[in-house]
Amino acid sequence: MPELPLAKQELNTMLIKLSDDAYLFPGRTNMMFIKSQGIMIDTGISEDASRKALRDAISENISVKLVINTHHHIDHVGGNSYVVKKTNATVAMNKIEKFLLQNALISSLLDLGYPLVEGSITYSIENLEDIDFTNVIKVINLSGHSPGMIGFIHDDVVFTSDLFFSTDVLSKYVIPFHIDVEKTLMKLNEAKSIIRDKLYVVPSHGPVMNPSLADDVIEANISRILFVKSKITEILAMRPTWTYEELIRLIMDSLGIKQENGRQFLLNRRAIESYLGWLQREDSISIKISIKIERSNLVVNVNKL
Ligand SMILES: [Zn+2]
Repeated sequence: MPELPLAKQELNTMLIKLSDDAYLFPGRTNMMFIKSQGIMIDTGISEDASRKALRDAISENISVKLVINTHHHIDHVGGNSYVVKKTNATVAMNKIEKFLLQNALISSLLDLGYPLVEGSITYSIENLEDIDFTNVIKVINLSGHSPGMIGFIHDDVVFTSDLFFSTDVLSKYVIPFHIDVEKTLMKLNEAKSIIRDKLYVVPSHGPVMNPSLADDVIEANISRILFVKSKITEILAMRPTWTYEELIRLIMDSLGIKQENGRQFLLNRRAIESYLGWLQREDSISIKISIKIERSNLVVNVNKL
């Protein structure tokens, strides 16, 4: 396995050259460039983040013509307006993610369960499905963290977006955010074979990995998901009836989740709800949960099978 970062010493910028054609701009949210096609993948959390990436890309003679966002979360699309203004690039997204970005009220309901975000998108967005990427990049469906999230493969590089998180993030947040954690688990297992014969695995957050390290981190993410699922199952089995609030509170307390602010609480609650939905759909576990209203309280009933 070659040492990382490959050929960084050749460049006078922050960009890391991962292949003849693929460049990484590492940051709080990693961004990538496919030089031959003028593609920029994700634009970071803000104009500031994308400005630095774009400046470096220009100095490497990369001319951005197409911005692809892996999903609608703000830390992946925050620089779109700036990049469009500077380069006149087309923006393309999976159509579900496009809808969520263009409808902030709905996406905030989806992600948080409470509409905290308002905003409008001033640039037009193409459907990723309408663009022919044959012989350009291979787009991969990584739905789970967000409903239409994508990653891609180009040369020997796999970009995995928010499919999995570093062990540091797992320690800090305990429950990584996935809107459909069951689907994420499936995609994590699929990813293990996708990355096997590649050189570099690039997540959206954290350093580039070789496949063997990425495999370990994917395993840690799988273990965490299964641990959280079993912990929630264990808690549910303690009593036949829970009010929704006490159940959520006990799950958070038992997992040692720290709430830094209201937004964090809502995100954590949404992440837990993803597990409750999974348990409700699953037939093979020892409990069956149902949800109803009793005296204006949302109540979770647990039947042991
Ligand atoms: Zn995300």
